[in-house]
Amino acid sequence: MGTVGRKIVGMDVNELLTLLNKAFADEWLAYYQYWVGAKVVRGPMKEAVIAELDQHAADELNHATLLSARIIQLGGTPLLTPQDWYKHTNCGYDAPEDPFVRNVIEQNVKAEQCAISVYKKLMDVTEGKDMVTYNLALQIMEDEIEHEEDLQNLLEDFELMLKSVGHAK
Ligand code: FE
Ligand code: FE
Ligand code: MG
Repeated sequence: MGTVGRKIVGMDVNELLTLLNKAFADEWLAYYQYWVGAKVVRGPMKEAVIAELDQHAADELNHATLLSARIIQLGGTPLLTPQDWYKHTNCGYDAPEDPFVRNVIEQNVKAEQCAISVYKKLMDVTEGKDMVTYNLALQIMEDEIEHEEDLQNLLEDFELMLKSVGHAK
């Protein structure tokens, strides 16, 4: 922890640490939702979907790494148990119990939309008060926006494929 680095934060640091740890919990759950989704997913276009899910899993893990660094820098402790992830998450966890491609993608779209709102809120509360966290939230939000777009593009391809199969009959 750097003392001046902490002092220049123009808001309650403990309040900020709570928000950072909640986002940190979301990232671990998002990571696992993508990771296990990529293992169990079934259906058409499976290979393309697995590639996207694996890439997003890696991005979510990177987000967890970035958040933990900022939490520690501010004198906090990243949540230490998976039970705490569940207790503090904003976005929750959707198990891919139905492993059909459309279901898995839709579950992850929902998670991304929640993540976008979490980082938007983090940007709103840190704007002009903590530029380091503001920049971090912006950097992560850019990834989440791209994730939502990638998944919605996959859903669109999937619908188009279904339609073309229908027309071929
Ligand atoms: Fe993320
Ligand atoms: Fe994401
Ligand atoms: Mg992607």
